[in-house]
Amino acid sequence: MVSPAPEQEFLTAPTRGQDLPRHVYPVRSLGVAAGLLCIAGVFREIDAPWHLWAGVAFHGAVWPHLAYFFTTRSRDPWSTERLALVVDSAMAGVWLPLMGFNVLPSVLIASMMSLGVLSVGGIRLLTPAMAAMFATGAATMLIASPAVRVETSYSEMLFCLPLILLYPFFIGVATYRLRHRIRDQAQQLEHLARTEQLSGLTTRQHWEEALQAEFERCRRGGPVAGLILLDVDDFKQVNDRYGHLAGDEVIRRMGEALRAVLRPGDVACRYGGDEFGMLVKGSDAAGAAIAAERVREAISRFRLNSAPELRCTASLGVAEVGPGFANSLDAVEAADRALYLAKAAGRNRVHVLGT
Ligand code: GH3
Ligand code: MG
Repeated sequence: MVSPAPEQEFLTAPTRGQDLPRHVYPVRSLGVAAGLLCIAGVFREIDAPWHLWAGVAFHGAVWPHLAYFFTTRSRDPWSTERLALVVDSAMAGVWLPLMGFNVLPSVLIASMMSLGVLSVGGIRLLTPAMAAMFATGAATMLIASPAVRVETSYSEMLFCLPLILLYPFFIGVATYRLRHRIRDQAQQLEHLARTEQLSGLTTRQHWEEALQAEFERCRRGGPVAGLILLDVDDFKQVNDRYGHLAGDEVIRRMGEALRAVLRPGDVACRYGGDEFGMLVKGSDAAGAAIAAERVREAISRFRLNSAPELRCTASLGVAEVGPGFANSLDAVEAADRALYLAKAAGRNRVHVLGT
């Protein structure tokens, strides 16, 4: 009567990152604006020609929106965002020589750039991003051969303050939010992995782990626990007469009934097919038999919407998880024997087996 354990189902979570552009867009817009402000502070001091100012304005007004445009339309936003970060670094590589490698804004832009790259793509993305920055920097040196002027004036330093203050703050907030989302998703995934879909009860694997833990506790002198196995009576006939959808509804209602009747600390699972397992904590066989009787009565009151004339019954076998057994599976076997006797005695009843 005890059916084999179902194979573990592996859950595949959709992690395509469709909302990534929405999260990155404000951080990029702010980072670009604050970085360009550092550059503007230098250009102001060196009386940069108009085409450099036009470049700064173009970069700030167009690039963040262009990156957003491409990442939102991408089938793989994470890859597109990684590419956008390499482009970010390549563009920074153009500005550094044009600022004459002015030390504070140059170091600041390079380090904030790395911070953004690391937070999205880790060390693996840092290598191509830095390579892109060096490549465009070298090309700019060759083509424009700008004068080197490393010293940072007081006013140039002031223009750097927004980047110093705001960018790490925004990266910190974004990382914190991401961490929380990951934690929530991990919790949801864990819950899903422990839940049997049709009945909404826990999986057999998790139930057996709970039973093992209870058995260990009991062996160490803790309280005994009640173990109940339930099998729906003549369930094949339900399927044959009313169809598999009605059969599925019975399984779903079983889940609801078991959750309603048992106490919050007790553990109920779909053992497989039309069999269910219950672990009634802190209760001996007599106490578990009372719970089993309540479950049996709740099931006999079932009325399905799709088949109101259907009357459902179940047989239940009860055993006690106590130190008398060598292991927890022996207790399951005892409950299974009790269930067999309940079936043999005419079904729709509870049979209790002592240890
Ligand atoms: P018994 O009183 O001796 O238990 O008779 P039974 O007809 O209930 O026999 P058994 O418990 O061996 O039959 C279980 C049946 O449950 C077999 C299978 O067709 C049906 N079943 C198992 N899982 C599902 C399910 O998820 N949905 C539906 N609709 N049927 C299921
Ligand atoms: Mg059955």
